[in-house]
Amino acid sequence: MSRYRVVALVELTGACQTRCAFCARDARASTARPMTETTFLTVLRRLRPRDVRHAELAGFGEPLLHPRIEVLLGHVAGHAVPFRLCTNGEQLDRRKLGAIDGVLERVIVPLTAADEALAARLQPGLDHERVLENLRHAARMRRTRLEVAVPALPECLDALPDTVARLRALGVRHVGVSTHVHVHGGALDAPTRTLESAREIARRRDLPDSGLDRVPPLGEILESWRTARCRCVPRNASLLIDTQGRFHDCFQDAVHEHVLGHVDLMTLREAVEERERRDAPWSLCETCALRDGFGPGELALALRDRDAGDLPGRRGVG
Ligand code: SF4
Ligand code: SF4
Repeated sequence: MSRYRVVALVELTGACQTRCAFCARDARASTARPMTETTFLTVLRRLRPRDVRHAELAGFGEPLLHPRIEVLLGHVAGHAVPFRLCTNGEQLDRRKLGAIDGVLERVIVPLTAADEALAARLQPGLDHERVLENLRHAARMRRTRLEVAVPALPECLDALPDTVARLRALGVRHVGVSTHVHVHGGALDAPTRTLESAREIARRRDLPDSGLDRVPPLGEILESWRTARCRCVPRNASLLIDTQGRFHDCFQDAVHEHVLGHVDLMTLREAVEERERRDAPWSLCETCALRDGFGPGELALALRDRDAGDLPGRRGVG
């Protein structure tokens, strides 16, 4: 039996106000109904600290658009597994912040740019003024950490100095670059800068790579290599649970084709073990930029940078 843990990605809804340039949400059918409260409670029962490093309310949809989000957040309170939220920030108003502060360990907002025109192009339909205003309030949370992750798209990297300065002025202390979000199994055109060069830009600016948070400790990587047929680190490090309560082979599967089973019928550990018996989902891997993003050299750098990112005094993490 395997002993490594995963990051559980819990998708609450397929709805979203925007179509970010780095998201493959368009690739999937938009008919999926939001996760029911009953399914969510079953998911919570399946998440045990020995199997899950942390859980993220995330996926191919905006979690705060779930019609009963405040009720679901109430269920999360006191859970043994730390929870995070990935949100575009438009619905992160003071009322939601009241339900979040102290309940979630972290809120992560992927922001393309502070510049209105650029943000409107890369996240069309999103009310950016409102997002920035919400960030100002969210930065004052006392018990939940706010983190803004700038996706490593070329335009976002060019605008990075301005974005960081504007975020600092709003009181946001934790700003990083995410090299993880702009590659989704090939549904997006190939990024015009490689993963490596994006990481290099982040390093030069002394900003942490937010995507590295999902890189497990070395011992758990070795354990997953011992037990799983497929050695892809990003795939084995996380487990997507969709709005219908189905476990998925790889979080890059925007179309939700590669299903392992359902939370009603199997535990999370059983889903991990089912995945260990499977080969890589090759139809996705062919065009996935992460495929070459975690070779031995990159992995060594990722582990080094992730640990360095936790050191106090590193500017990106406050
Ligand atoms: S990344 Fe998030 S906010 Fe952007 S389109 Fe996808 S689900 Fe919506
Ligand atoms: S290379 Fe394949 S298994 Fe790995 S993250 Fe990409 S799609 Fe998933």
